[in-house]
Amino acid sequence: MSQNDEVMIGLEVHIQLTNLKTKLFCSCNNDYRGAEPNTYVCPICIGLPGSLPVVNKKVIKFAIRLALALDCKINNQFWFFRKNYFYPDLPKGFQISQYNKAGGKAFADGGKIAIRLNNHKKDIILNRIHLEEDPARLVHKGSIATSPFTLVDYNRSGVCLIEIVTEPVIRSPEEAREFLKQLKSIVQYTGISNLGLEGSVRVDANVSIKGYDRSEVKNINSFKEVERALRHEIIRQKNILKRGKKLIQETRHWDDKRRITIPLRTKELEEDYRYFPEQDLVPIEINKDFIQKVKSELPEMPNERSIRFRKEYGLTEFDSYNLVLDKNFADFYEEGVKSYPSFGSEEHKLYCNWLMNDISRWLNNNNKTIKETKITPKHLVDLINTIKDGKITGKIAKSFIPDLMVGVNVKVLIEKTGKKRISDKEYILKIAKEVIINNPEIIKDFEKNPRALEALIGKCMKKTKGRLDPELTRELLLDLLSNKIKKIEI
Ligand SMILES: [Zn+2]
Repeated sequence: MSQNDEVMIGLEVHIQLTNLKTKLFCSCNNDYRGAEPNTYVCPICIGLPGSLPVVNKKVIKFAIRLALALDCKINNQFWFFRKNYFYPDLPKGFQISQYNKAGGKAFADGGKIAIRLNNHKKDIILNRIHLEEDPARLVHKGSIATSPFTLVDYNRSGVCLIEIVTEPVIRSPEEAREFLKQLKSIVQYTGISNLGLEGSVRVDANVSIKGYDRSEVKNINSFKEVERALRHEIIRQKNILKRGKKLIQETRHWDDKRRITIPLRTKELEEDYRYFPEQDLVPIEINKDFIQKVKSELPEMPNERSIRFRKEYGLTEFDSYNLVLDKNFADFYEEGVKSYPSFGSEEHKLYCNWLMNDISRWLNNNNKTIKETKITPKHLVDLINTIKDGKITGKIAKSFIPDLMVGVNVKVLIEKTGKKRISDKEYILKIAKEVIINNPEIIKDFEKNPRALEALIGKCMKKTKGRLDPELTRELLLDLLSNKIKKIEI
């Protein structure tokens, strides 16, 4: 039994449909980010008496897209419920949501997301997805626990959320991370939301050690924080059990500044929410033709794309799985390899390696996505061709990456930097001789250990900033050392 078998995690992921123009039940602007507080509001989304909500049709279309992509069973008829609770972010005193009991149904049931972790595949089974409105945004000074005040911005009130609820089948923080990575990718491909926007995603996590009461960690505000919060909460629960104390069912808050979970309140029971049908909205029926229409417009999903990439471009399972995660990255790949018909499987693999290694590293270090840079697929095609033609070495090519990312092309870089691969035999011989004379200890080592040759090649490269033809340098060094070239003189 692995150490994590006893851990049970279920996630509730709330995603804002940021690609909508208007809110869920009114025509207020959905794009509230950066707006003056409390300016994108109307009687409906601040819950004035007498105002009536109307469902945004595009929401239904977006929800069907996601349900299809996650392999859920769409319920062809459903209605909304009121979830009652009293909190400053909720002007009506209830949230319009969905409920899958008391005759109610979720938008869609079941579904799954396939993940890979350490070469192990697993399906994370979903319980349901449903729609609800976002509450207002509460603004604190610093941490929620220490802030002297709370400000309320109703611009967010009524923005559409889609909630994805998993079964408690996640066994470790790493599995949760992989699940969220895949979910993020699928959401990007469906075009319903831009999860790169701050606050577009919130996660609640149910965490328990098998056989004990669970806690619900609320309001984890980014995918990155989930793994961290789960790690902390699992250790906290295990420590309590180690000390022989009792775990209680409770709601906790993830304090991302202090990186701990803190108790918020003991868990409300479901009946505390006094769910009842929302009488101001008619039941919604979705006919099969509409679902079929949305299905026909659905783009290729990452999973299918990964399989196709393996077939069409001969990539490994690992490479294709990671390459397709970010749609823009995968589009970049495809545009590049397709634009150069003479590229074969060797170049397809090379192109993938450059993207997955040097370019990904640059993007990570600079906290950017490929779309936020100026590199084009053609730049990378040129780079690979220039290496293949022997005009530059791989090492020089690597040094070009930061310039390529800001849109400078390879030809200009070679001219500007004067970095061309050097294949001039006389010049390389001169460098090699200098290196041999200046490094007697490596030469001595070489007599016992032929691998010391690598150190000499390294010295030659260092002297010329990596511009020497590596094969020719190796050959000439060996010739010099085996006395094929007798006289060493400078
Ligand atoms: Zn409104």
